[in-house]
Amino acid sequence: MHNTTDNSVAALQQVFAKIAKSATESGRQVADITLVAVSKTFDTPAIVPVLKAGQRIFGENRVQEAKTKWPALRHDFSDIELHLIGPLQSNKAAEAVQLFDVVETIDREKIAVVMAQETRKQGKHLRFYVQVNTGLEPQKAGIAPQDTVTFVRRCQTYHHLDIEGLMCIPPVEENPGPHFALLEKLGQEAGLSRFSMGMSGDFETAIAFGATSIRIGSAIFGHRNYPDQVCNL
Ligand SMILES: *Cc1c(COP(=O)(O)O)cnc(C)c1O
Repeated sequence: MHNTTDNSVAALQQVFAKIAKSATESGRQVADITLVAVSKTFDTPAIVPVLKAGQRIFGENRVQEAKTKWPALRHDFSDIELHLIGPLQSNKAAEAVQLFDVVETIDREKIAVVMAQETRKQGKHLRFYVQVNTGLEPQKAGIAPQDTVTFVRRCQTYHHLDIEGLMCIPPVEENPGPHFALLEKLGQEAGLSRFSMGMSGDFETAIAFGATSIRIGSAIFGHRNYPDQVCNL
């Protein structure tokens, strides 16, 4: 079931209240935590109320789906910042560069190469996160923890990508804390201080472990009807 308009706006306010509470409890500033509202699978009528409530940073996990919604929404609302949080195929790189401001899923050399080429070609500056497979799960995207620091340096010095931070999706069945701690440690080793970690089920823990960006979908928009198909989990 999708949330109704009133529900999603009320849910957004509740999420902000919880972010503030977690920040206070962790001795952190609420201004240092960015909410990425994950609108994947939700259509434009479901997204508009959240935009009208003032939210401007959104996440989508598929290039094709984002293309059907966001060009029109960008026309109607200013200052939108769109994050790609799903796996990126190199044949979608050109469209991804057109559509997104931040790509959170840089996880291999080939994608770094094509993103460098496409941003140069389109004359567009994007910010990037390197996705780390903290649980070394075979079905999940992300660079292995032990290769992360070298890969970040290579993206920066060789491909000239603006690497803003690291991103992870902990294994579903595990306590996420150690995964968040690992991401933070790898970030420090790589000289990065932004961490995209934490979703609807674990964002309070992520904030305690230093998340600067949390990606929240169902806690705002309601349950997705077909999560398995699109969830990158
Ligand atoms: C779907 C998704 C989210 C949001 O998940 P919720 O549990 O609905 O908050 C966050 N990050 C990624 C990478 C996702 O694919």
